[in-house]
This record gives sequence, C-alpha cells and structure tokens, in this order.
Amino acid sequence: MSKRFLHALPPEVFLAMIQVTQAPQSPVLVQQQFTISGIASPTYAGRTLALTVDNQYNAKGPAIDTDGNWTIGFLFQQAGSRRLKIAIDSESAEVVVQVVTTPPPPANRLRFITVPQPITVGQTFVFTGEADGYANDAQLLLRADQKYELARPTVQVGKWQAVVGFNQAGSRLLEIIGAGQDRAQVTITVTGTTPPRSPRVSFTNLPQGVRTEQVIVLQGNAAGYSDGAELVLRADQRTELARPKVQAGQWQTTALFHQSGKRLIEIIGSEQDRAQITLDVQAAPSSLQLFPRTAWTTQATPTSLPDLQPQRITLHHTTFTALAVNASQAQEVARMQSLWSSNVNGNGWSDLGYHYIIMPSGRIYVGRSERKRGAHDVINDGLGIAFDGLYTTATITNQQFQSAIALCTQLCQRYGFKDPVTPVPTPTADFGTRNIPLICGHRDRVATACPGSEGGRTVRLAEIRQTVKTKL
Ligand SMILES: [Zn+2]
Repeated sequence: MSKRFLHALPPEVFLAMIQVTQAPQSPVLVQQQFTISGIASPTYAGRTLALTVDNQYNAKGPAIDTDGNWTIGFLFQQAGSRRLKIAIDSESAEVVVQVVTTPPPPANRLRFITVPQPITVGQTFVFTGEADGYANDAQLLLRADQKYELARPTVQVGKWQAVVGFNQAGSRLLEIIGAGQDRAQVTITVTGTTPPRSPRVSFTNLPQGVRTEQVIVLQGNAAGYSDGAELVLRADQRTELARPKVQAGQWQTTALFHQSGKRLIEIIGSEQDRAQITLDVQAAPSSLQLFPRTAWTTQATPTSLPDLQPQRITLHHTTFTALAVNASQAQEVARMQSLWSSNVNGNGWSDLGYHYIIMPSGRIYVGRSERKRGAHDVINDGLGIAFDGLYTTATITNQQFQSAIALCTQLCQRYGFKDPVTPVPTPTADFGTRNIPLICGHRDRVATACPGSEGGRTVRLAEIRQTVKTKL
C-alpha cells in the first residue's frame, strides 16, 4: 500500500491502524535475519512498537518514524510456524513466519518433457525437456547410468532435445545435467531383443610380468564406436582406472597398480559392452612403505584434471610442523587429510597438489594421482614429492632420506629418467630457462623458500640425486 493512498484515507481510519507491508513470503532459516516492515498512523510517530512472539514472549520493537513507517529486524532460534504480533496501544497486526532448519532444495531448472514409450532396442528416439533460465546455446549433458555420455544438447528458447539410441535391453538411468547442481533424472526401460553380436570392445596385446608401481600400457579394439567415444577401464569391478577415448576403432591407455594380486580388469563401452582380463600383478621388489590414496580418503583424484606425462621430479616441504618420527599411522592419515583440506579448501584446488608425501617416519602416502598434472611448482610438468615438515633449518629424517631415494629410484625407472644428476635445460617460472637436474627443488624453478635451505642442503637434495643415479 502506497503512502499516497494512506494519506488519502480519512483521519479516523488513520488513527486506528497498524499494517504490515512487507514480510518473508518463503521459509526463512533458523538464525537467519529477516525484516518485516509496515506502516502505522503518523499520530504514533516516535512511539515504540511492542512485539509478542508466539503469544508468549514479549520483546521491544522498533520506533515508528515521523511518516509512520517502521521496520523490524528479527531472527528465530527455533524452527516452526512462528507468530509475531506487532502492537501499539490497542492496535495490532500479526505475521506468521515459517522457520526451517535446512534450506529448501533449489528449484530444479531442468526437466524431461518427452520420454518416448516404449523404447526399443536398435532404434533412435527423441527426448526433449525444459531448461528454465538457461541462455540459448548453453550446453547440457545427457548421461546414462551416471557414467556414459549420450549427447550434449544445447538449449534453445528454454528447451533442449536429443536423439538417442540403445543397443541393449534393460533398465537405464538417464540424467540431463546443467550448470551447478542442476539435473533431472528419469529411468527408462529399453525393451526388445538385443541383437546377437560379437563383443565390440576387447583387449589386445596383454602385458606380461606386471609389477606394482610400474606403468603399463593397455590397449584394445572398440569396433563400431565413433572417434572420441569414451570407454571406462575398471579394476576389480569398482575402481575406475582411466577413461580412454576411441580413435579409429581402437583404444589405448596407461595404468598403474599400487596393490599386488590377481586384478580383474574390464573395458566397458556405453552399451554395457565389455571385455575382461585378469592381470597377475606382482609386488615390486622394493622396501618402499607406500600407502595408497585409499589409506586417507575415499575420494579419487578428479578425472577432469589434465593428464600428466612426467618430465622430472620436484621436491618440496609441506611447511606444516613436522610430525614425530615415531608418529602413528592414524596421525599421518590425519595429516594427509589436513594437507588435502588446506589445498582444496584453502587454495581452492581440485585435489591435493603433490603426488607423494614422505612423512618423518619414512612412510610414503600417495597424494594426487600420478596420471594427473599436479599443483606444486607453477609449471607442473613433473611429479611433486613433498617432505612433510618445515626444513628451513631442520634437516629431513634419515627415514625420509631413505624413502626419497627408494621412491625417486622407482619413479626414474618408471619414466625413463636415466640421469637425475646432470643439469639439463629446464623451463622455470621465474628464472627463464635454467640448467637444472631432473630431480630438482621447488626453489630451482620458482622464487620460493621451498624446500628449505639454499641448494637443498636441509632436504639432502644433492645426496638423493647422487644415490638414485647409482641405482639406475
Ligand atoms: Zn614447494
């Protein structure tokens, strides 16, 4: 109600009036500040309103200004349908505010509209839907079974459509995915008879004598798949190893195992087309105490990060206060989680920046997947290994030194670094191209104090290089 209208009212109406003009229309959260405003007769100007909560509790309200306007800032400590009575003399108004403990789910902006029925094997069908608030040409993703990309429809005038075919009968979960958390799901049943056919994905050239910590190449055929189609390589029916893309009817990828034993390896295509092999992975002959990523987190390194073909090894210190040399594994696991949180929540990175962390105990923990580019020396063309601790003046423990040698030896063998001692031309972030050995310190490439003293003395950098070289 406008003020002009109020002034047009006869004076007797004015005298007997208090009215709410604005109050929360949707639920507010517990502890969330909100405002209620309104108007009262200007004859009340300068007076203070009385508030009563749930007909029980009294509170002092705001003063009424010279025009008769008033505004209350308020919050509730408890959820429920809460009643606020706003009164002066014998006049009052009431507002009911819905207070909730959890925010209501955001309005879903994506929907399926046309879901063909029945859907039969071997034919194509048009799926359509709506995408509220999306600009024209915004790209959505239509996915099956939370894994396989079916189409990338674009939005036109708030609508999307995709043409999709299925080669296999059964129940499939379809999702249309947009920005942020926007998505809609529908389960469809594909009926009909799956045409008999030979498997379209397969393995060729099985690797022999596979050891842990050794990068192997897996490859095979993917007949009938278009270039760029994504397959899923999985171990033991749960761990995703890679997502190779099909090129000219073939796929190829590298893989690395941290655990020995008989491992079931599957290559899976979008139509549940799959091939399996079993690899007998032997433990690497090494004294490495290497703990897999699953020792400290259930989250895998995001597959969206760029792939890495390591060119060198960069040593760091974490700058966290070093754990004791006899720290428990539980303390080390907690340290890994703190490092991850510092990198992800503090630095805003997608994952822990380093590939390996060497604890003062000598135990080594796998950080970011070695297959993915790290976030540790600006250029990030190599593997990042961090000694946990601050080594500005203190020196790494003998256990850390021995583990660094074992780990660097294994990595040099894996990636064909034959000479980690002789300086080679190396791009740096701050010093142009410098001659630096393949095992280097963070400060050799970036203006930083990491990892500690000049020349890497406190992390025994020169000794590590020399010793590794004798083992190659
Ligand atoms: Zn560093």
